[in-house]
Amino acid sequence: MEYFLSEEQKIIKKLAKRISDEYVSKVAIKYDKEGIFPRDILDLLAYTELTGVYIPKEYGGFGGGVMEMCLVVEELSRNCAGVAVSYAATALGAYPIILYGKEEQKEKYLPKIAKGELIAAFALTEADAGSDVSSIKTTAEKKGDYYILNGSKHWITNGGEADVYVVFAVTDKSKGPRGISAFIIEKGYEGFYCGKKEDKMGIRASSTTELIFEDCKVPKENILGREGTGFIIAMKTFDRTRPGVAAMAVGIAQGAYEHAIRYAKERVQFGQPLSSFQAIQHMLADMYINIEAARSLLYSTCRMIDSGAKDFSKESSACKVFASDVAMKVTTDAVQIMGGNGYVKDYPVEKMMRDAKVTQIFEGANQIQRNIIASEIIKEY
Ligand SMILES: Cc1cc2nc3c(=O)[nH]c(=O)nc-3n(C[C@H](O)[C@H](O)[C@H](O)COP(=O)(O)OP(=O)(O)OC[C@H]3O[C@@H](n4cnc5c(N)ncnc54)[C@H](O)[C@@H]3O)c2cc1C
Repeated sequence: MEYFLSEEQKIIKKLAKRISDEYVSKVAIKYDKEGIFPRDILDLLAYTELTGVYIPKEYGGFGGGVMEMCLVVEELSRNCAGVAVSYAATALGAYPIILYGKEEQKEKYLPKIAKGELIAAFALTEADAGSDVSSIKTTAEKKGDYYILNGSKHWITNGGEADVYVVFAVTDKSKGPRGISAFIIEKGYEGFYCGKKEDKMGIRASSTTELIFEDCKVPKENILGREGTGFIIAMKTFDRTRPGVAAMAVGIAQGAYEHAIRYAKERVQFGQPLSSFQAIQHMLADMYINIEAARSLLYSTCRMIDSGAKDFSKESSACKVFASDVAMKVTTDAVQIMGGNGYVKDYPVEKMMRDAKVTQIFEGANQIQRNIIASEIIKEY
């Protein structure tokens, strides 16, 4: 399929593909098995300036948008979604600063994020507040020149590895979602600790941890936007980053499809390659159709966002849901096509199937995305 990417976008995609094929593919199985954070790959992405593709030019980035970020995520995910999510989680932490940061905050953090000198994270979820994010309990109490944070966060990607965290806390309990605020918190702040690291099914190269705040002192100038705008900041950020999850899903599906088609041509049973059996051919054809459909929806959504559209919640949710469901189906079918070999760690598709699952869960589970889409479309007619 021809997607009419710009010349710059083609160069970004090609460079990310090269890094993915020449470097990520070599470490994917080891990093997955041993749960190794891919700092070397992130350094390489920084060296090749891919860490700054979505950061505005005035803050040292390439000046691209969601599309450029997604092209990098997609290509990395073809070989390892754990590496891709470690890259994408910095974008998730950077977007609230790009969208709502004060000038000093942008100047302080964005150029270093663009250069890959800072890794970022986004901390909203808590043990008792997952889909229902407005019920978070971490508090931020203003005392003099500081906010004092108390509470804990769960499931935070890049936890322990990131240098800067955008953290959501309640500043006024009586106001519900309008009483939530967002803060920039740096590694090493007094009272800020990293807790348990999760032992995950997939994306095992990425770090997912608990964060703990015990009378954590945050300078008052570190608030993002105004007090009470945290919920809006989180939702507007997700609208721009959910396509990143879709890109991860498209990349995983593409990787699994490529392995399955090569295997089907090589493996001989009943005197013929698997690819000569119509049952296998139809599975491959369905993989191709679904991946191209998911990529088309993803790229259209990215173009809509980057061209300055005002509201794109439903499109952003739709591409995330569709692509993640496609990734789950394609990786499951890739395992099926490869039979026993698909089920063991000697081949990468079992990892891809494990990695695909989380794309249906994080940044808002698919049921919640369908709720968002339904509430929008019912209002429209
Ligand atoms: C590997 C990983 C990395 C993550 N990284 C981050 C991160 O960096 N930052 C961060 O803040 N969070 C992060 N998360 C948290 C993630 O966003 C949440 O896991 C997700 O939003 C779902 O919340 P939950 O796990 O508490 O599930 P729950 O909210 O308990 O939901 C469980 C199930 O019930 C369904 N459900 C819930 N409510 C409804 C409803 N109203 N209607 C229909 N179905 C419903 C859900 O769809 C889901 O299938 C991460 C999670 C994982 C697994």
